[in-house]
Amino acid sequence: MKYIGAHVSTSGGVEKAPINANTIGANAFALFTKNQRQWVSKPLTADNISQFKDNCAKFGFDANYILPHDSYLINLGHPEAEALEKSRSAFLDEMQRCEQLGLKLLNFHPGTTLNKISIEECLDVIAESINIALSKTEGVTAVIENTAGQGSNVGNAFWHLQHIIDRVEDKNRVGVCLDTCHTYSAGYDLVGDYEGVFQEFDEVVGFKYLKGMHINDSKKELGSRVDRHDSIGKGTLGFGLFEKMMRDVRFDNMPLILETVDEALWPEEIAWLREQAK
Ligand SMILES: [Zn+2]
Ligand SMILES: [Zn+2]
Repeated sequence: MKYIGAHVSTSGGVEKAPINANTIGANAFALFTKNQRQWVSKPLTADNISQFKDNCAKFGFDANYILPHDSYLINLGHPEAEALEKSRSAFLDEMQRCEQLGLKLLNFHPGTTLNKISIEECLDVIAESINIALSKTEGVTAVIENTAGQGSNVGNAFWHLQHIIDRVEDKNRVGVCLDTCHTYSAGYDLVGDYEGVFQEFDEVVGFKYLKGMHINDSKKELGSRVDRHDSIGKGTLGFGLFEKMMRDVRFDNMPLILETVDEALWPEEIAWLREQAK
């Protein structure tokens, strides 16, 4: 079964997310559990938490198909001690918010070298950051998102993801989310070599670690290393890729999340994706 949704707004409180997801015809969704552009947000209240859970139950959303995304400020591979510490405590707060909401996954961008350390060093620091967060929480899996490799971001090559996973102690609580736009921008030809790309992913990382997908078309060409999402069928990936994915059982039973640019199209995009899955 395909679980399809979008990254919905939490304006007015996290408890609005399941309502917004239901409105667009989703059976999965993503959300920020705090303001993604600020270091510190108010703690979740008992009301936020109970209403979030009630709304999820009311509209039939299962925690297995809810994929929260962490703040864009966090860099778990930061080359400097003080800034790394700040990121690690913010990430722990994100994990704890997920715990409070009964969520099972937390999606995050691995980090950036800031051109001050090597990619391997950065990946090692990220793995250590994950180990620290996992040791202080329970029940939430750290889901590493692949990147377009923009600037000094790591996580664009499959081996980066594998390198991190390799060094995470609790393999049951680490996973990966592939973003189709990022994958293509990073140089993996999802359009010309669909089978080859996913075979390589399976060999290097392994489908057993795949916990979710971000379903985005791209405004940029293959290997551009530029992260610009587009609406489904309107970009360089085109409808064909998404049609294939919806018929591919390897993407069953995980959150498939739109982060496409025009929210007004989400109901249509979800309906179209669902149609292809039949
Ligand atoms: Zn992301
Ligand atoms: Zn994404």
